[in-house]
Amino acid sequence: MDRKIHLDEKDIPRQWYNIAADLPTPMLPTLGPDGNPVKPEMLAPVFPMNIIEQEVSTQRWIDIPEEVLDILYRWRPAPLRRAVYLERYLKTPARIYYKDESTSPPGSHKPNTAVPQAWYNKQFGIKRLTTETGAGQWGAALAFACKLIGLECKIFMVRISFDQKPFRKLMMQVWDGNCVASPSSETNAGRAILEKYPDTPGSLGMAISEAIEQAVTDPKGQTRYSLGSVLNHVMLHQTIIGLEAKAQLKKIGERLPDVVIGCAGGGSNFAGIAFPFTADKINGANIEIIPAEPAACPTLTRAPFAYDHGDTACMTPLFPMYSLGHDFVPPPIHAGGLRYHGMSPLVCQCVVEGLHKPRAIDQVECYQAALTWAQTEGFICAPETSHAIAATIQEANKAKEEGKEKVILFSYSGHGLMDLSGYDAFMSGKLQPYQLPDVMLEKTEACLKTHPKAPQRKTGKW
Ligand SMILES: *Cc1c(COP(=O)(O)O)cnc(C)c1O
Repeated sequence: MDRKIHLDEKDIPRQWYNIAADLPTPMLPTLGPDGNPVKPEMLAPVFPMNIIEQEVSTQRWIDIPEEVLDILYRWRPAPLRRAVYLERYLKTPARIYYKDESTSPPGSHKPNTAVPQAWYNKQFGIKRLTTETGAGQWGAALAFACKLIGLECKIFMVRISFDQKPFRKLMMQVWDGNCVASPSSETNAGRAILEKYPDTPGSLGMAISEAIEQAVTDPKGQTRYSLGSVLNHVMLHQTIIGLEAKAQLKKIGERLPDVVIGCAGGGSNFAGIAFPFTADKINGANIEIIPAEPAACPTLTRAPFAYDHGDTACMTPLFPMYSLGHDFVPPPIHAGGLRYHGMSPLVCQCVVEGLHKPRAIDQVECYQAALTWAQTEGFICAPETSHAIAATIQEANKAKEEGKEKVILFSYSGHGLMDLSGYDAFMSGKLQPYQLPDVMLEKTEACLKTHPKAPQRKTGKW
């Protein structure tokens, strides 16, 4: 039995998998301010054309540029590990595998898309990228990628994380990133929010508004915006996770997993591990695919499927997605990366179709799972990742009750060495179970009321 399954560099996937080619029901269009579908050229002030082409592509396989691979080789192929110590502790008959995305230099899966995004922008002649970051994982990943590729990087970091996570800010600075707290006084969007809510903890939606504004108002036209999750091209770049995992399982003669799990904030590490296996499910395989989200920010499990903006100031088009409302200010839970109001439209369509079965888990259960993990496997996981581990433990216990030798695969999206204050809060008994109160969903309804309706289209097969 191997505990660490390595893929040779020569066997790294050379193409990303695009699930848009295989969806049983095609996606609803993204809508512009006039309610009509967005045309690719309308996105040109925000993203370079080569990325927009990927965003709207329905080609199944898309080549990974050799120069992108050359950078990814620093940590890819990432190890697939077997969690035997957790298996023994749980006395489960399940075999638990996890894809270790914590081995990248910034410590999460996010550079899998930061690197290609920076590369395509550079190819297009762009000099500077702007972005937002919550807990700082994405800001750190983009600063890292921009440094290696030769772009400037400006990061708007959600205020509460800026104050709570000074080390992430320092990581961005080590890679020459310029990081400011959001809302800031540097943009019209930021100033307007600060005037109304001077003490706001900030939100990803607000920071996105600021980053987009700064990109599209560059008088030289040499700045573009970069998003770390949610969009189709981000899901595409992350499929290298699941494609490698599939090759690694095959290498040791393991069958297809029965259960695939990832935590879901905007959906990218989950999509990365899940989409290559969702293709098998579409073609008849029996796989349970579970995005795990916080009970405090239950986008997939409790929010309506609707057309909504990706940001607070409504600068983005309307995406068909489950959404808590673009003005939703999430409770300040420690899993900062899972505090987004919306979700990847591709993941949402898979949920509508019944291909993915979302699950919300309370933060106390998640931290308990994180401690169990650290005390059995040894590694200290990110607070976001603890949601995937908690779901994995639930599934491993279920396999034990059913007496079934299930194969469980999950995405270990990042390490928690920069997030120990959340562990501190948990260990000193300061964290309470927290479910989003129903009144908050009334606010969601009010926020979405004027938007066009998003019909739920599905085949009914799953
Ligand atoms: C950002 C982040 C997430 C959530 O983002 P997704 O796009 O949903 O993957 C999860 N885990 C870690 C470690 C992160 O940094």
